[in-house]
Amino acid sequence: MCGIVGYVGRQNAVPVLLEGLARLEYRGYDSAGIAVVRNGSLRVHKQAGKVRELAAALPKRLNGQVGIAHTRWATHGVPSDANAHPHLDMSGRIAVVHNGMIEDAAVLRRRLEADGISFSSETDTEVLAQLIALEDCGDLEEAVRRALSKVHGAYGLAVLDANQPDRIVLARNGSPVLIGVGERQMLCASDMAALVRHAQQVVHLEDGEVASVTADSFSTTTLDARPTVKTATSLSAEDADYERGGHEHFMLKEILEQPDAIDATLRGRLDTRFATSRLGGLNLTARELRAFRRVHVIACGSAFYAGLMGAGMLESLARLPASAEPAAEFRYRNPVIEPDTLYVAVSQSGETADTLAAVEEIRRKGGRVLGIVNVPGSSISRAVDGGIYLHAGPEISVASTKAFTCMAVAFALLAVHLGRLRDLGPADGERLIRGLAELPAKAAELLQHQDEIVQAANWISATPSAFYIGRVRGYPVALEGAQKLKEISYIHAEAYPAAELKHGPLALVSPQLPTVAIVPDDELLEKNLASLEQINSRSGPVLAVAHLPLGSLADRVIQVPKSEPELDPILLGLPLQLLAYHAAIALGRDIDQPRNLAKSVTVE
Ligand code: GLU
Repeated sequence: MCGIVGYVGRQNAVPVLLEGLARLEYRGYDSAGIAVVRNGSLRVHKQAGKVRELAAALPKRLNGQVGIAHTRWATHGVPSDANAHPHLDMSGRIAVVHNGMIEDAAVLRRRLEADGISFSSETDTEVLAQLIALEDCGDLEEAVRRALSKVHGAYGLAVLDANQPDRIVLARNGSPVLIGVGERQMLCASDMAALVRHAQQVVHLEDGEVASVTADSFSTTTLDARPTVKTATSLSAEDADYERGGHEHFMLKEILEQPDAIDATLRGRLDTRFATSRLGGLNLTARELRAFRRVHVIACGSAFYAGLMGAGMLESLARLPASAEPAAEFRYRNPVIEPDTLYVAVSQSGETADTLAAVEEIRRKGGRVLGIVNVPGSSISRAVDGGIYLHAGPEISVASTKAFTCMAVAFALLAVHLGRLRDLGPADGERLIRGLAELPAKAAELLQHQDEIVQAANWISATPSAFYIGRVRGYPVALEGAQKLKEISYIHAEAYPAAELKHGPLALVSPQLPTVAIVPDDELLEKNLASLEQINSRSGPVLAVAHLPLGSLADRVIQVPKSEPELDPILLGLPLQLLAYHAAIALGRDIDQPRNLAKSVTVE
């Protein structure tokens, strides 16, 4: 959600900025804008709508060697041309692009208006532009620091001053800002995606840091002007990771990448000799790990469902009571943080605002927390005690697929690791390590056969609503499956633990309401078949995702390769991603940018 790009160098900034904005589009946004400095004055173009509309509306000769650009996801004021970023101060000297929100913007605005400042938008961001311009000290960096000391809120900021056209000033508090170091040029952005083409190295700003960036160098300080030392790291992502690579949508590309992504999550982590997993980044000794008596997972959205799946694995393999909770619920209920509970925070981007806040709350109260995160160097990965990187590669589609699957794989690794420190014997350890090693090939086999799924998707696309059911291990699979269908096809879907149907929802089962049932061939098979009987006797159509054919109990069956029972949920989820994808295609939806949604939810 929302994006910042900036450029200072020797090329024309405009195409670099537009390309950067296009790379950020996947995050979701409602308006876009750009500002460059030309002959000592700011040229600003901004409007509601898509980046390509902005690009088409720009004057052909727009040009400048320094500039900033933005995709907005409105928090203060409707999406409109006036509210799009960049925002200028009253005199038109300072331009600001901003991710996040300023909490005391209304009070500050009233105060500024009383002093005769006039505003041209409804945004909180414009307050920042006015405040920075008022700190007229001849040094943009100092002006930004002084202005920021007067506001409360979350921000990633990039600021231009028409009078100092050789630099961009950046600041970060709660919303990511990166500097991309290139050859005789520098970029800045809120997301690695916008940097990969032009920068070789990256520098992450910390909360409370301000940076001044010119074509050849950068410097950073704290908000109270103490210099800070930064080290640049090589860019881990490649350009191709951000291209669709011949696929119609990022979502399909990422679904099909899953065998490789799983392989990357497993790489170097399977220890066949000791029948366990090797997790170098946990930063906890075996003794410390053994001392935990409980695991609590916090996450949002699909990561939360992966957390539920993980809690199940942890409980069954490590025999530790394990639970999962949406991060926002956790952070606002003043949770009791126990020294013998291991907390695990899960986030694809590592920037999810609620999850990050929950991690900070746990740390403040002295708890220990691990991260399961995809993006290296992200805020959550730096805030936790240790963790597991997914190494799944950038996930661009708003609807998570490969990251979700790899989160489940990471949990399996953690569960085996903790299990082998406790009661899980070497034979079971070996069985699971083998099962994990076989996952990429089984995922590849499953993804080869899409015909039945396409047919099932066409069928389900005709219904306004569907139930998803699963039992114990199958329940998080059902939750995530229903989430996928909702997110991208906009078909209403609800997931229930299978046995809950008869306690209420069964009232809705009819020939018009299909049920998608998760039916693994495990110790609960009989129970699951009984649920299907109940649906059949109400003439409810059934689509089963199962290991076995199931005969007349289901109208359609998508068969999935069997794994070890504890690992089965990982593969059972894959057909449901394709089901949602093809249903959304049948309905002509915007697959990679579903309505109202954004990737990486960095606001509350
Ligand atoms: N709060 C600002 C606005 O509403 C920035 C939103 C964003 O992060 O894009 O304009």
